[in-house]
Amino acid sequence: MASFYSLRVLSVERETSDSVVVSFDVPAELRDSFSFEAGQYLTLRTPIEGEEVRRSYSLCSAPHEGAWKVGIKKVPGGKFSTFASEVLEAGAEMDVMNPQGRFLLKEGSGLHHLGIAAGSGITPILSQIKQVLSEDPAASYSLFYSNKTAASTMFREELQDLKDRFLDRLRVFYLLTREPVDADLLSGRLDQDRCKRLIDTFCKGRTLDAAYLCGPESMIMNCKEALVEAGMAEGDVKFELFTSASAVKPQVQVVETLDTDTVMMQVVLDGVTTSVELEKDKNLLDAALDAGLDAPYSCLGGVCCTCRAKMVEGKATMNINYALEPGEVERGYVLSCQAHVDGSGPVVLDFDQQ
Ligand SMILES: Cc1cc2nc3c(=O)[nH]c(=O)nc-3n(C[C@H](O)[C@H](O)[C@H](O)COP(=O)(O)OP(=O)(O)OC[C@H]3O[C@@H](n4cnc5c(N)ncnc54)[C@H](O)[C@@H]3O)c2cc1C
Repeated sequence: MASFYSLRVLSVERETSDSVVVSFDVPAELRDSFSFEAGQYLTLRTPIEGEEVRRSYSLCSAPHEGAWKVGIKKVPGGKFSTFASEVLEAGAEMDVMNPQGRFLLKEGSGLHHLGIAAGSGITPILSQIKQVLSEDPAASYSLFYSNKTAASTMFREELQDLKDRFLDRLRVFYLLTREPVDADLLSGRLDQDRCKRLIDTFCKGRTLDAAYLCGPESMIMNCKEALVEAGMAEGDVKFELFTSASAVKPQVQVVETLDTDTVMMQVVLDGVTTSVELEKDKNLLDAALDAGLDAPYSCLGGVCCTCRAKMVEGKATMNINYALEPGEVERGYVLSCQAHVDGSGPVVLDFDQQ
């Protein structure tokens, strides 16, 4: 169940001039709640200039390391990332939600995994590389990692150490967009054509068993197309979005088919059922929050899956969904921050069914 816990910040270490790595102290009694899989994220909550701000950050540490670390890259004008980079110090207390997310490694032994990351998108992929190469001696990993400049590349040193340790099983290809690189193929934006050429050149003769994409939305969608064109099954190409153009400006969708102004909704949260009046133009999460319930959420843009809940009764339509798999939607799961009720029948929304 998704809940916030107060954790102490163990350290805040500078990674590049515009990024930091924040490490949390998870006490023994919370270790079960905070167990995680590579690719999952933490949601952090703290007051900044009098306003409660919550943001998600992928764990860049791997489960076997016994550490809870996130890498935060400063976004110009960004509230939380600027706070983390300039104000946050070791010893501070912060509300941290137990790990969430389904950007997970494909199961199986001896697979060749392909990661494509840009900028801070390296964080979940770094965790995955460490986990799969440590746990499966037959696994191999190829990484295409794009950054503006060499100096702004996060975790360069750690990746170098990993390459030395897993000499024959880890390959890292750095791409730079704002600095010249000797090889023309590694210089410039990672678009569909470049992705295709990278695969043709560096993955020739290797099976592509699973791919993990994390970076700007356009890069993700272009590389996904290239990988599917190269013969990968869509289900084997996973991605994690940190933000999206459509998520930044959510379109409010009023459901026309609703014939009453309000619907009764039962919300199941932490084992307690509460009746909530749901107005027709409100999303399910807002209705629960407005009723005083401490329902889980983070991005509010359909990108993360912190607000995932199951429609046990009733139907809903989502404006945006970048996080749920088709099978989950079929089973009745919704991103409650994006879901509007369809029809006028009663609704039962369960946050506890994960
Ligand atoms: C599941 C998940 C995992 C994430 N993991 C990481 C991570 O490991 N490391 C990391 O640094 N970030 C990560 N993020 C992004 C992070 O949650 C914040 O969105 C980011 O730090 C910006 O927050 P902010 O408060 O500083 O900016 P805000 O005050 O929210 O935004 C300021 C401006 O920057 C724009 N903006 C917001 N995010 C980005 C972005 N990522 N790139 C470019 N422009 C942006 C906004 O549209 C706005 O215009 C993750 C997001 C999700 C949903």
